[in-house]
Amino acid sequence: MMLQDKEREFHLLVETISELVWIIRPDGRSEYYNQRWYEYTGVTIDQTRNDGWSQCVHPDDRERTIAAWHDSLQTGQPYENEYRLKNARTGEYRWFIGRALPLKDEHGVVLRWFGTCTDIHNNKQVEEALRISEARFKRLFESTIIGMMIASFDGRIFEANEAFLNMVGYTRADVLSGAMSWRKMTPPEFRDRDAQVLDELYTTGKATPWEKEYIRKDGSRVPVLLGTVVLEGANRQAISFVLNITERKEFEKRKDEFISMAGHELRTPLTTLRLLMQMFAKKLTKSTGDENKELHGYLSRMDAQITTLSRLINSLLDVSKIQAGRLDYNDEVLDLDKILYDTIETVQQANPLHILIIQGTLHKRIIADRHRLGQVFSNLIGNAIKYSPQADKVQIFLSATDDVAMISIQDEGVGIPEEQQKRIFERFYRADALLKIKAISGLGMGLYISNEIVKHYKGEITVKSEEGQGSTFSVSLPVLHS
Ligand code: ADP
Repeated sequence: MMLQDKEREFHLLVETISELVWIIRPDGRSEYYNQRWYEYTGVTIDQTRNDGWSQCVHPDDRERTIAAWHDSLQTGQPYENEYRLKNARTGEYRWFIGRALPLKDEHGVVLRWFGTCTDIHNNKQVEEALRISEARFKRLFESTIIGMMIASFDGRIFEANEAFLNMVGYTRADVLSGAMSWRKMTPPEFRDRDAQVLDELYTTGKATPWEKEYIRKDGSRVPVLLGTVVLEGANRQAISFVLNITERKEFEKRKDEFISMAGHELRTPLTTLRLLMQMFAKKLTKSTGDENKELHGYLSRMDAQITTLSRLINSLLDVSKIQAGRLDYNDEVLDLDKILYDTIETVQQANPLHILIIQGTLHKRIIADRHRLGQVFSNLIGNAIKYSPQADKVQIFLSATDDVAMISIQDEGVGIPEEQQKRIFERFYRADALLKIKAISGLGMGLYISNEIVKHYKGEITVKSEEGQGSTFSVSLPVLHS
């Protein structure tokens, strides 16, 4: 092949690629630029003389670019440099990487420099976005309010911010030494809960915020609220956001103590009041016999009000006992049907506007506290009546297997929105919307106490409901084999 043909082939080739291509003589004079170079830079070959090519380089990059190029010209070392080049048509600067290699003869003398400029603007932008996002993450991590740590599922803490270290009383040196482990910092009673959280992390990638305690380096404890998400691309590592909830816990404790104290303070005068009333009733009967019906009527209505009040106060005390883990149970062998029928009869008498319809029987015995079970059933049936003011009946379905009794209480009332169904078992929680309109009174304690009692006997309360379509509360209780 003739030399000219080869040159033509070479030129054709360099016109097909997306790079800007140039050939320079060893003394720095330009020999050739491909079409793309002219189109992009708008610089003619004449204008390239005496470093004139650099007019299309961004002013901020120009000096170092000329210096790097001259350095290669002098030393014969390959040239590589990043800079911004101006697009003559749009006026926009884009990032390029310039590279050049010398072609040498057999004595090592440079004959030509072959160079290219490659557009790396998009990569640069991605890099820059990444840099900004990393910087932002770093700032976030330095947050002074929220503790943060990156740790593996097996416990090792790789990174922790100051807020977290302050919370648990460790130092940065402890992190760096690799000795910090959230497992070691977790008291034994929280380990089961942690195992559940890890399960959730495996399956969903994030954990519903949960509360626990950490043992600080000095052995004291700190209550925290945690939110954790699995780090993408990292093997079993997660980032946790940790809030110190000491103040909230102390406030809750004060609130519980207050409720307990208030309950006791209220109960004392009420007991005296009831005693005085009984004495009063006796005196009245003695002096006027049963004649004064009107006064006796007032007395029995007062008695009913006192009963309501003392039930409320007992609920308050039960709630604080549950909080302290001290709800008392007097267990004995009980006939479940009897407990239910007795409760239903009492509730029916107090609520003549709803008919309580029982379907089925249990024929089951259980070892439990008569009083506490009665409390559960009267609360559930009482609620069914209270939250169905327009209805005239509540149905109670009884069924049993060998070891489990099922009691379902179905009303035709206001129902409970799906998202609130879990929360109604929390203490003092009341489903809002409907109640505000209809102003049905209550304090949100009954279901909390009932749930606690049923759980104590290894049973479960579940709810099925739809807003406006009534609710069914079902209690399942393990019973004695018949
Ligand atoms: P209270 O009835 O005193 O508010 P509970 O703990 O017994 O307290 O019930 C908690 C909440 O659950 C109630 O405020 C109510 O919003 C909802 N709820 C309970 N039972 C029913 C029911 N049968 N129908 C509709 N809502 C109910």
